[in-house]
Amino acid sequence: MNEFDLIEKYFNWKNLNSDMLGVGDDCALISIESQHQLATSVDTLIEGVHFPKDTSAHDVAYKALAVNLSDLAAMGATPLYFTLALTLPNIDEAWLKDFSSSLKTLSKKYNIQLVGGDTTKGALSITINATGILPKTQALLRSSAKVGDIIFVSNIIGDAALAWKQIQNNKTPSSALLKKFNTPEPQVVLGQKLLGIANSCIDISDGLEQDLSHILNQSSVGARINISDIPLSDEVTTYIENTHDWCLPLSGGDDYELCFTVSQDRVAKIEDLGQQLGIPLIAIGIITQEQGIERLGLFDEKCQSYQHF
Ligand code: ADP
Ligand code: MG
Repeated sequence: MNEFDLIEKYFNWKNLNSDMLGVGDDCALISIESQHQLATSVDTLIEGVHFPKDTSAHDVAYKALAVNLSDLAAMGATPLYFTLALTLPNIDEAWLKDFSSSLKTLSKKYNIQLVGGDTTKGALSITINATGILPKTQALLRSSAKVGDIIFVSNIIGDAALAWKQIQNNKTPSSALLKKFNTPEPQVVLGQKLLGIANSCIDISDGLEQDLSHILNQSSVGARINISDIPLSDEVTTYIENTHDWCLPLSGGDDYELCFTVSQDRVAKIEDLGQQLGIPLIAIGIITQEQGIERLGLFDEKCQSYQHF
């Protein structure tokens, strides 16, 4: 099997409507509605850095697309199309079949079309560039949090970080933790519903405090958070009871939940939205004038967040 057979068999899904020209030409072509903006983002996953060496092809594909969908979610964009740059050490058809079918399943779920990519030989790495669309000037930004906004997070956080910690300690995490680590659910619908309600938003990929800090720095504000309000699973709660390691949920990465701020007169809308979507949306603090994060609670250790360099 050569490069072109591989592309044709596994990545030319022939499912595009007439608004798009996809795999097969030098560029993909996309038609877009007027008065709209494209939101575009790229993420690379490298074996041994972003996922352990023995991760299944299914989970690698899922995570590569999910982390990009999570970026679209954080801006409130509706997924539109993506490209895939795939570097493979060799052609392993069983692996490619699982990879391609997992990617296709997730892409169908969020109605995002694979329109092109690049295929090369080398150490396993997956780069996805995902693009979404939204009405002009509506995007949720990091830079528009206001003093007095209530800070929310979706769902629970810390599960993926606990899974990763256990893997590093040669323990097998529970299936619930592994699911959160390997196949995080991007909050695409929530992001779209936050348009016109939230003042600012970010997805929590590198740890709650580090990601919240991006909102704070870009909005020139600070935050006060109640440590005990941070939503945790039973497993993370038990872990913290045993270790007092609050850094795990505060700075552990890979949650792919949304952290967003909302003015106080819109808090009731968030409660309604949480009910409507069946997703817990939990208030953890408030935006303040003084720069930095003030933690209310017993915990005041400095946590080390993930950084590549
Ligand atoms: P070029 O010569 O322009 O670099 P390629 O030979 O790399 O084109 O790719 C041929 C076509 O297949 C292009 O339309 C490209 O977008 C698509 N393609 C290549 N690799 C992938 C991939 N991994 N997934 C999806 N489409 C791909
Ligand atoms: Mg190419």
